Amino acid sequence: MRLHKDGIGMTSPRTRRRLAARLRHLGIDDERVLEVMAQIPRHRFVDEALASRAYEDTALPIGFGQTISRPYTVARMTALLIDGRRPGRVLEVGTGSGYQTAVLSRLADEVYSVERIVGLLRRARARLRELEAWNVHLKHDDGTIGWPEHAPFDAILVTAGAEEIPAALVAQLRLGGRLVIPAAARNRLMLQRITRTTGGMEVEVVEEASFVPLLSGLR
Ligand code: SAH
Repeated sequence: MRLHKDGIGMTSPRTRRRLAARLRHLGIDDERVLEVMAQIPRHRFVDEALASRAYEDTALPIGFGQTISRPYTVARMTALLIDGRRPGRVLEVGTGSGYQTAVLSRLADEVYSVERIVGLLRRARARLRELEAWNVHLKHDDGTIGWPEHAPFDAILVTAGAEEIPAALVAQLRLGGRLVIPAAARNRLMLQRITRTTGGMEVEVVEEASFVPLLSGLR
């Protein structure tokens, strides 16, 4: 059974609320992040055939061998990134479906997002327009070089797993700014938060995570 009307069925606001409740249960305690995730229609960021699974706490394929991140991961990374504040400028590396971008667009003033696969970027652009996320700026590029024209950023989020922390991204953080990135540590992929300090940077290793790889070059 597939229902299209908002208000009932697998893609309804009630289903989204249930997802937010589950995220809270998993330890997400930033109410603004939970509220935004209860608002944004995640089913609009996946293929129609997968829409009924959009509010399960799971990653789903979005084409080109990539995935939309698991809701828990989106919530966790967003909470680490905003840290209870409202960032001015945020850079995202790995637009993918555009879902995380949409979440950020409700929590920051301006969101800059870079994606290396042009087919994904096009779809994300169309969806973000439909949602009237006018404070989002997208670019087809290798995001490991950041977006120097708009630096410095208050916060940078990388949504693909890195072998090492890209120096260009740390360099584009303002003092006190935060970079949240899944990066290799102790031979595993660990979610990390890097804060730029006067002396250099401070690194917090948060928890193990699973992500598609951060790659260089364009497609
Ligand atoms: N936030 C996205 C995550 C998609 S998966 C979502 O929830 O939908 C990670 C994305 O990072 C993929 O779309 C992949 O193509 C992109 N990516 C990987 N390496 C990249 C790079 N160097 N620059 C920009 N995007 C990159």
